Amino acid sequence: MMVPTPRSDSGRSRPGETVLRGEPAAPGICVAPTIVFERRAVPVFRVEVRRREIGREIRRFTEARDRAAEQLREIRESTRRALGQDRAYLFEAQRLMLADPLLVDRVQEVIRSERVNAEWAVRTVLRELEAVFDGLADEYLRQRKGDIADVGGRLLQNLGGAARPSLERWERRHVVAADDLRPSDTAELDWTKIQGVIMEAGGPTYHTAILARTHDVPCVTGIPALLDHIHTDLPVVVDGSEGIVVVNPARKTVAEYRRKRERERERRRRLLAATASQASTANGERVVLMANMDEPGEIDLVRRHGAEGVGLFRTERIAVQEIPSEEEQFRIYRELAQALEPHPLVIRAFDLTATDIGRAPELNPALGLRGARLLVMASGIFETQIRAVLRAAVHGRVQLMFPMVGGLEEFRAARTHVRAAVRALRYRDVPFREVPVGAMLEVPSAAATADLLGQEAEFLSIGTNDLMQYLFGVDRANERVAHFSDPLHPALLRTLRFVARVCRRTGLPLAVCGEVAAEPLMIPLLLGFGVRTFSMSPNAIPEMKRLIAVQDTRRAEEIAQQSVRLTTSRRVRARVLRAVRERSPATDSG
Ligand code: PEP
Ligand code: MG
Repeated sequence: MMVPTPRSDSGRSRPGETVLRGEPAAPGICVAPTIVFERRAVPVFRVEVRRREIGREIRRFTEARDRAAEQLREIRESTRRALGQDRAYLFEAQRLMLADPLLVDRVQEVIRSERVNAEWAVRTVLRELEAVFDGLADEYLRQRKGDIADVGGRLLQNLGGAARPSLERWERRHVVAADDLRPSDTAELDWTKIQGVIMEAGGPTYHTAILARTHDVPCVTGIPALLDHIHTDLPVVVDGSEGIVVVNPARKTVAEYRRKRERERERRRRLLAATASQASTANGERVVLMANMDEPGEIDLVRRHGAEGVGLFRTERIAVQEIPSEEEQFRIYRELAQALEPHPLVIRAFDLTATDIGRAPELNPALGLRGARLLVMASGIFETQIRAVLRAAVHGRVQLMFPMVGGLEEFRAARTHVRAAVRALRYRDVPFREVPVGAMLEVPSAAATADLLGQEAEFLSIGTNDLMQYLFGVDRANERVAHFSDPLHPALLRTLRFVARVCRRTGLPLAVCGEVAAEPLMIPLLLGFGVRTFSMSPNAIPEMKRLIAVQDTRRAEEIAQQSVRLTTSRRVRARVLRAVRERSPATDSG
């Protein structure tokens, strides 16, 4: 478990500095001031108001409070009907808090005395009240702190987070320090201006971390209590390769990290110079390295890094604001397919959740209607996308892949819509071409039945990010459980071996497109199981090429077969590390 600890071991921790540790989520080093983005509740910013605006802020607060009281009354009533009076009482207690002078009068007092916006006053008072509750001797009363947070969250929600800092702040070269920077939040970021991302939430497979890697922005995730150590404009060093953040770094520390950054950049430059060559192992086996792509604009990045096509185009990123029309999608897919020729473009159908398409929110979207399961219900969206894909296929090597299928029946249900799209295009007499249709293996039930799925799917692609999420029961956005998810765990190794065996036996094309594909310790294992196609963040490709070039697949097979028989991740790690050291005593774990 990672905890913020001074790096006394490294000798780098200096007076005045605080060294925080998290998960290395995107490599690279930067030194810059931070801008804080608090997301989990509602982003709350301190905005000073003029004297004549105080009345307006108090009115905003009163309206938010009245709305909260009404919402809680409704929740109380529906809870009473569904679960009885006892449970309903909890909400009545919350409603009573909204009339408590300790909250109401105090918020108004803070607005007046500090001349701040209502959001900031609510937040200030919430912190005061939470501190009071923390000091109570009675355990039951202490637990009521959660209700305060709940009521506070509701108030802030109703205030609508209206007071955000101006976008100019985002334009400066900052490190974004967040409790949770969700992929949708990043839509308003100009990645070229962001120096680094550090956050409390998430592990390396969190989509925001994946985006940071794509944009070559150093990122550290899963830093416990980060925001307790940071405020806006505080300088930090971010070492995304090691998962370290130095808050308020001493001059010497900054100098050391700048030197390290130069060395890393030089190394990257050398690797990039070799991108024209294809990947192959030391014993001459060809390996195909493709790129994962989130946005069409990344195509240059993909080509610059020597990818042999796109193994995963996450199309949902083009549907953030609204689902593009068939024509718009056709143009996007066609351009990409043409740019990648003669390499393939694997288009993944929209991996959206119910709320993304305006349906009612679900309690647990990761386990709700998502991916292909949602698309077969929203067949208009699905078939529009498929038609665009089939039309684009006339212009390049296009393949279509379904996300989140649970097994053969779900795959068949999704493929029905391909047939419908084909019929529609024939009817319209529009040029199109049928494409290989494959399935992502992200749900354990699909991976466990890869042999059955493989009888009808034309290719398989293992999405280890979600596969691990569901295999280990670990929310990929939740840093508290991130350490329960380990790619070297025997459960994942057995799953990978099974799928790879099926594909080898039947000759079915197989790729690995989750983040595990770029994990150095996984290379001998994946190669050893027989995987020969990998798809990853484009930035990871040059380094992967180098690591693959020193592998011998016969040796990798031995290591993989031995590793898969071991009982714990720790033993597997030790086994693979031993192999790495035997191969090259002078190199690091890469
Ligand atoms: C995966 O789940 O491994 C995957 C590649 O898809 P995504 O990260 O987009 O969920
Ligand atoms: Mg996935």
